[in-house]
Amino acid sequence: MSASQFAALGLGPAIIAALDDLGYEQPSPIQEQSIPLLLAGKNLLGVAQTGTGKTAAFALPLLNSLDPHQQSPQVLILTPTRELAIQVAEACQSYARKLKNFHVLPIYGGQEMGGQLRALRRGVQVVVGTPGRVMDHLRRQSLDLAEIRAVVLDEADEMLRMGFIDDVETILAETPDSAQRALFSATMPAAIQRIATNYLGNAEEVRIQAKTRTVERISQRYLLIGNHQKLDALTRILEVETFDGMIIFVRTKSSTVELAEKLEARGFAASALNGDLSQQLRERTVNRLKNGQLDIVVATDVAARGLDVERISHVVNYDIPYDNESYVHRIGRTGRAGREGNAILFVTPKERRLLGSIEKSTRQSITEMQLPSGQQVSEQRVQQFRQQLLATLETEDLDRFKTLVAQICNEQEVDSLDIAAALVYQQQQERPLFPEFRDPPPARERPARERERSQDKPRRERSPRPRDENLPPMELYRLEVGHQHGVQPKDIVGAIANEAEINSQYIGRIEIHDDFTTVDLPEGMPRELLAHLRKMRVRNHPALLSRVAAGQEPQPKPRKYANEGPGAKKGKRSFEKAGNFRKDKPGKGSGRAGKKPHRGKE
Ligand code: AMP
Repeated sequence: MSASQFAALGLGPAIIAALDDLGYEQPSPIQEQSIPLLLAGKNLLGVAQTGTGKTAAFALPLLNSLDPHQQSPQVLILTPTRELAIQVAEACQSYARKLKNFHVLPIYGGQEMGGQLRALRRGVQVVVGTPGRVMDHLRRQSLDLAEIRAVVLDEADEMLRMGFIDDVETILAETPDSAQRALFSATMPAAIQRIATNYLGNAEEVRIQAKTRTVERISQRYLLIGNHQKLDALTRILEVETFDGMIIFVRTKSSTVELAEKLEARGFAASALNGDLSQQLRERTVNRLKNGQLDIVVATDVAARGLDVERISHVVNYDIPYDNESYVHRIGRTGRAGREGNAILFVTPKERRLLGSIEKSTRQSITEMQLPSGQQVSEQRVQQFRQQLLATLETEDLDRFKTLVAQICNEQEVDSLDIAAALVYQQQQERPLFPEFRDPPPARERPARERERSQDKPRRERSPRPRDENLPPMELYRLEVGHQHGVQPKDIVGAIANEAEINSQYIGRIEIHDDFTTVDLPEGMPRELLAHLRKMRVRNHPALLSRVAAGQEPQPKPRKYANEGPGAKKGKRSFEKAGNFRKDKPGKGSGRAGKKPHRGKE
């Protein structure tokens, strides 16, 4: 099913084979429009935000057109942040997995130069970089743009906001006039329009049509959540929400299988529905959902097309749909036959803009919901337990069991209440009635007010952020890298934000010592996330993250990166560059030992 749709856009067999491996079922609207134009060599102006599939929209056609014999860089992709550079480079690597001798290199500040220089010397076809670091390489003449055949500006408005626009223009001016150009931006401020006019010539414009469609009788909620926390959030929702049938939408065929398996392992009656399954198997799955043998179907858009099952009380958009059309289509699977329907949408902080555009085009607001707390899950389990217990008391003949309990009570001289409690304890071990959930830190992006303010004021890397009084309590962690390793606060912020998908606003105070660093991170981070963070490298050194026991004070006294007096000058410069956003009043002092939540960084 997938191969034909992507092949119809003009992509070759190697790329199609990679997409098949990845489980892509159909092109997203922005891909449908962009791919043929870029394959035809046209310049492109794409108005698209994160979540629309914009990366594949430019990467697939450009990778498809690579010259396998050219060793010097052929495609240059500029991104505003290190995180995005890595993400785009990884996407290119996965789309080009069937191309021989393919090399892509992400280059960004804060990373050791030596490795980048060596990789560039070895030869790469695609360079994905932040403007500052690309400029560094141009100055050193370690990056040659003479044979660049295509340049992409990804998230151009973000680059403008971050003060990179002059660098971007310089880089564009250095690329050959003949190079193909594509610019993707969520918004089109005047400065971006000007770049488009100056450097894109007669570009074709693609954007997602925002048709207005309304949906009634469906209560719509969204949950702002990091990618790592989606599964935990979903299981909590499944526990506390009263539902009949449910469809969970994901983007790829492989995710349908993965997620359905994980839900089954957690005791839910779930199954996957995707375009790889035979028609017969798909029909069987739908019938099982209809007759209640299954409660949850995890589906792709293609597989769920036209699905009409009355008992679907909930649609969960586990992965955000590419556009409003698809959103309306998906949630229309519930609220059938005059019943009430519920739609829950997972939105990662970066996808907030897409949420806004869905709300705008449906002219309906989607209410924010909170992650069900551990307490709510516990209450729900206790209630179910009570019901089951009462039903057993009412329906089962318990005489023989009563006699047994009475015997034990007599023999052991224990109270029947103790026996009952011990039995409840045993019975709930697999699914604890009082689970120890540690609530993950809330996924938040910077408030809109701050985003707007920083648009007026260009900045090199990060700008001060406001202190959010709702920030969670923090706890202290230690990393085994410090001044000796050339570490700066921005390296720590970048590495953690990137690995943990924690909004950098939630990375607290950073203190860099000679051979180690301490950082405040939100309390109660999930165990898997910590395990993941333990493998993190900073400036190419293993960071070996560990928690500092409460009350323990790291020694020796650190050099502080804060505006704390004349001695802090050097540190302060790094601090500003890294964009630490401590808003403490001058003279407040460090207060490190107090272990009060620190809501900013130094
Ligand atoms: P983007 O909007 O480029 O940030 O893409 C968001 C996510 O959608 C990424 O995880 C992609 O792997 C995924 N994605 C993009 N295009 C498709 C597609 N046609 N089918 C399935 N997943 C896709």
